[in-house]
Amino acid sequence: MTRRIAMLSVHACPLAKLGGRDSGGMNVYVREVARALGKRGIEVDVFTRWRERYDPRIQQLGENARVIHIESGPIGYWPKMDVYDHLDEFTTKLDEYVAAEGRSYDLMHAHYWLSASVARSLAPRWRVPRIQMFHTLGLVKREVMDEDVDGESDVRVTIERQAVHESAAIVAASEIEVDELRDLYGGDPAKIHVIPCGVDPTLFRPMRQADARERLGRDQCERIVLFVGRIEQIKGIDVLLRALGRLFIRHPDLRSDVCLLVVGGALDPGDDAPETEKILELRRLVHEHRMEANVNFVGSLDQQKLALYYAAADVCAVPSLTESFGLVALEAMACGTPVVGTRVGGLQTLIAEGESGLLVPPGDDEALAEAIAQVLTDHRLRTHLAHGARDRAEHFTWESVGEKIAELYESVLATSSALEV
Ligand code: UDP
Repeated sequence: MTRRIAMLSVHACPLAKLGGRDSGGMNVYVREVARALGKRGIEVDVFTRWRERYDPRIQQLGENARVIHIESGPIGYWPKMDVYDHLDEFTTKLDEYVAAEGRSYDLMHAHYWLSASVARSLAPRWRVPRIQMFHTLGLVKREVMDEDVDGESDVRVTIERQAVHESAAIVAASEIEVDELRDLYGGDPAKIHVIPCGVDPTLFRPMRQADARERLGRDQCERIVLFVGRIEQIKGIDVLLRALGRLFIRHPDLRSDVCLLVVGGALDPGDDAPETEKILELRRLVHEHRMEANVNFVGSLDQQKLALYYAAADVCAVPSLTESFGLVALEAMACGTPVVGTRVGGLQTLIAEGESGLLVPPGDDEALAEAIAQVLTDHRLRTHLAHGARDRAEHFTWESVGEKIAELYESVLATSSALEV
């Protein structure tokens, strides 16, 4: 019997340009999981907010997998709380669309707290079980952020709590997330399934560093430190800039041959205002540390180009304050680039300390500087970590994520039909 899944990803369109504000790992996750499920013969419709005016309503994502855009409020980028304010409209329009098409689904799989709210209304109406993946949790974010920049905390946490208790199953990206769901939200561990994220090994694979640098026209720098991600405080990019400042004070010889490439963030001022402001703030930090010649803001890149940057780098820094999984770290590892990451969330389970990367405490620019210096100056260590990283990354593919999610669907459906009998 062909299974049909309604996947809800209200604010993260799987076809969106990556690296800008609010588009990153979750978009990649939904895209890759929908494709992997589709390849297994499961029909997946991903429902997402209509954000880009010229996108058609329906776009094919892959075999058996489609993206369907649903109108809710005016088209364009909006902060998450504005998306929240239009969730009722999204829910109604989605319900109407599905009714008009005469479609029905076996199961609903929701991503992030915004989609959890829609799933809460529609799953009982459609009489289907609901599965939830949070990607990040409000209460975890609250622990590490000094202010609630998105103004979302309270409402978000309420919706998350409801989803933890009401969903038939929850997908967590790591064991650490299981602990967080249990300790902070009172989640039942029996309902939580750890399925780590994946990487596309045909796209992110080792390549000769010299070739990658030549193809990028970036052979002027002796050693490259790479940062990839959304330009937000939670990603710890300011900690990384301070670490680089320290590194140059402690190792003045490195100032002339180390550069940091910052990938991510929109550089077009009209495109994404809040992020541009953050980049201006970071540029001031660069100026304070006299690192203008060492730091280059590259802007967002597509993943084909990004693979070349990973291969060109000597080390990939992932200084996040919190990280539910950390796809960037896994992609770098798959390219054979050692990672210096923070000891938070999924990074701790992904990176084997001293074997496939180095881990430092979050927010600690001194420890980060030291770890980066170690990888840059100790050739044997770097080679050891590069091999370890590649070996470790081989365990994570989207194909196997798809397989585990498909198994989870079957077990949830078996339980829910047993309950109906
Ligand atoms: N990414 C990209 N282009 C960019 C910046 C990021 O394609 O300019 C992708 C990157 O390859 C990764 C994702 O965005 O797959 C970021 O995922 P991660 O889990 O590291 O962070 P999140 O966005 O989930 O916080």
